[in-house]
Amino acid sequence: MTVIVRFAPSPTGKLHVGNVRAALWNWLFARSRGGKFILRIDDTDVERSTKENEDRIRADLTWLGLGWDETFSQSARFSDYDVVSDALRAKGLLYPCYETAEDLERKRRLQRTRGLPPVYDRAALSMTDAQKSAFEAEGRKPHWRFKLSHKPVVWNDLIRGETIVETASVSDPVLIREDGMYLYTLPSCIDDIDYSITHVIRGEDHVTNAGVQIEIMQAVIDARGKGALPEFAHHSLLIGADGQGLSKRLGSLSIEQMRDDGLEPSSITSLLAKLGTSEPVLPQPDIMALARGFDFAKVGRAPARFDEAELLALNAKILHEEPYAALASRLALLGVTEKIWNAVKGNVAKLAEAGDWLCVIDGPIDPVIEDQNFCAQAASLVPDDPLTEGSWDAFVTLVKTQTGAKGRALFHPLRLALTGREKGPEMAAIFPLIGALKSRARLKGERA
Ligand code: GLU
Repeated sequence: MTVIVRFAPSPTGKLHVGNVRAALWNWLFARSRGGKFILRIDDTDVERSTKENEDRIRADLTWLGLGWDETFSQSARFSDYDVVSDALRAKGLLYPCYETAEDLERKRRLQRTRGLPPVYDRAALSMTDAQKSAFEAEGRKPHWRFKLSHKPVVWNDLIRGETIVETASVSDPVLIREDGMYLYTLPSCIDDIDYSITHVIRGEDHVTNAGVQIEIMQAVIDARGKGALPEFAHHSLLIGADGQGLSKRLGSLSIEQMRDDGLEPSSITSLLAKLGTSEPVLPQPDIMALARGFDFAKVGRAPARFDEAELLALNAKILHEEPYAALASRLALLGVTEKIWNAVKGNVAKLAEAGDWLCVIDGPIDPVIEDQNFCAQAASLVPDDPLTEGSWDAFVTLVKTQTGAKGRALFHPLRLALTGREKGPEMAAIFPLIGALKSRARLKGERA
């Protein structure tokens, strides 16, 4: 069997760590099985979907390295959806309902006060033709619901194991609105069947939907006279480092934001591939290596913790381990040479920070002078250019002998004067890059 999966975002907002995890897992699974990854744009909601969001989604996926083998938009397939919905109507599986939103709310309130679950009572099914005509004559348009079997739907979820949805405790889903607009459910089921999707991989907020969709998909298969149900894998959702759900913060956790912040795409994929699995999170710049190890058997059911600090630490590790050649063109844009990169990379969590250190090295900076006499004395002991790797040790030994300072009292004022910062790269590595002239000037308190 050739694996065919799809990632199906609605272009009503941005990609964020929550929904991109589903994209990544679909992609990894497809690649691990030599399968096909389809990008489907669920844009049936014409009011909320925008081309701009769609473009952003494509740009984000491309940046992350999640290329697709095929792509299409649901808005191009309305005629296919019409054919199937006509067939469902003919079978009595799609039935018209004339309740207004207020009618439905009233019913739900009544059910709640009686302690009943707020499930649609199917009153529309017992309407006479005369009643329907009367509504039509008033100008009311129906919305259309799918008639569920009221039997349990059972499937063997690749992550959750045996999963049961009692369709008797779910309202018959509205598939088509009064204005004729398709909600995403029916198009999604038709597409999954028509495109021979073998595995639906997505968040567990869709588990109840899956129960409903399996019945709709079966009806689509009957209507089309061909097709097969996919398998399902519903992964747990991410929570924040504080144990709270991420939903309120997702705006600030968009992929676009992370790219603007200068994170490496591979740190995002390295983290999201392993969060919620039994495997350790390790820096993995090669996304195909992540794919080779991908296996649903390693995925747990507990919510997975997403910690921005962990992402940043991973980003730093990826940068430190990356060979210079892989970063050379981006570093060149910052004016950072290989020598400078090697000197500062240990203190860089995001690539752009290398540019900040370059500014510190090249100057001008305002030195911070803690002890004027000590620094002036040190200035006179700076060896002549060209400084080398060994120059720092020789210089410090000299300052120590001449001033009697040692430990923090020796190193801290020198670092502050020479870099203007409390912390930073090894002084032995950056001292030769700063050079004798600037070092002397800075130790004398001059902007250099
Ligand atoms: N467009 C749906 C969503 O973004 C797709 C869900 C699915 O994968 O079936 O929630």
